[in-house]
Amino acid sequence: MNIHEYQAKQVLGLFGVPVPRGFVAFSADEAVAAAEKLGGPVWVVKAQIHAGGRGKGGGVKVVKSIDEVRAEATRMLGMTLVTHQTGPEGKEVGRIYIEEGSDIARELYLSALVDRATSRISFIASTEGGMDIEEVAEKTPEKILTISVDPASGISGHHGRQIAFALGLEGEQAKQASALIANLYQAFVEKDMSLLEINPLVVTGAGDLICLDAKVNFDSNALYRQKDIVELRDLAEEDPAEIEASKYDLSYIKLDGKIGCMVNGAGLAMATMDIIKLYGSEPANFLDVGGGATKEKVTEAFKIILSDDNVEGILVNIFGGIMRCDIIAEGVVAAAKELSLDVPLVVRLEGTNVDEGKEIMANSGLPIIAADDLNDAAEKIVAAVKEAA
Ligand code: ADP
Ligand code: MG
Repeated sequence: MNIHEYQAKQVLGLFGVPVPRGFVAFSADEAVAAAEKLGGPVWVVKAQIHAGGRGKGGGVKVVKSIDEVRAEATRMLGMTLVTHQTGPEGKEVGRIYIEEGSDIARELYLSALVDRATSRISFIASTEGGMDIEEVAEKTPEKILTISVDPASGISGHHGRQIAFALGLEGEQAKQASALIANLYQAFVEKDMSLLEINPLVVTGAGDLICLDAKVNFDSNALYRQKDIVELRDLAEEDPAEIEASKYDLSYIKLDGKIGCMVNGAGLAMATMDIIKLYGSEPANFLDVGGGATKEKVTEAFKIILSDDNVEGILVNIFGGIMRCDIIAEGVVAAAKELSLDVPLVVRLEGTNVDEGKEIMANSGLPIIAADDLNDAAEKIVAAVKEAA
């Protein structure tokens, strides 16, 4: 789960992490009131969307008067902000953050993430802050330091010193860096973060360290014990179909292709997406109905897949282990009838009660194309979509 920059700064602030003062605003009047409370003389008006690269897209403006705060707030609220992370369709700005302006001497990069290769939390630091870290990683990888923290011994002084040294920080600044690293680590662990990125971390003219930007992702599997974090969820930032799917416990992720997939199990979903690509097409989504799908769940899954206008065909690929193939077949038939399906549908069933399942589909009077295995299924749906086009 993602949250906004201003929320991330609030969470980090609770752990003693230095962030600029600021207030969220939903209207130009609120923005002006926030700016007056902060007092100036420099303010930053920042669009709050769940994507980075806002500065380049016109979503971060440094201003020097209340009139400019109002003008920028009016311009940003309601605008569709396009950045390299939003995709060409952009994201609508529903709220902005009014923050005190910082006097920037240097912009650094600092992040923490769960490193799957080492099963540890790693810190990544670079002197090249404020810009695309992906580009730095590609062109000048020697400018990036990665250190991993052993969870048994936890964070300690040497991690902070190593990072401070790599960032060219000495004396008082190195001490601040060590404290910052320890606090970020604590926040990361206690709040079940999966990613924490400070870009830029700045050294101010007065020589202090402060986090000017903050991007935080949380591990969705841990949200049950992070009630205060769940309250920060902004549904306007999420895909409506994905929200609908989560109501029915379906894992749905929209993709850009034209073949809708309905699968049980994440591994099978991955394999299904791969094989669709192998046969020359692209999946329109990832949809895992889970282990105990009912007829109702299957119908909802169909509705969600069909709500995507790009879908030109559907591939159902189910392995009936705990789940019985006849139940799935009934669900598929009921859904196809209810929704008067008008795109080709290929169904591949395997496992418990597979023969009963196939019989239900064959007797349904619907033009369901049956497939015997994964290869056969992918080949058939790709061909059927081509033919229908
Ligand atoms: P994004 O990464 O989405 O572009 P940032 O919050 O990193 O947004 O802002 C982009 C740039 O704007 C920063 O690199 C920094 O130079 C400047 N900036 C952001 N916040 C402030 C601030 N409070 N004071 C001064 N400059 C800022
Ligand atoms: Mg940034």
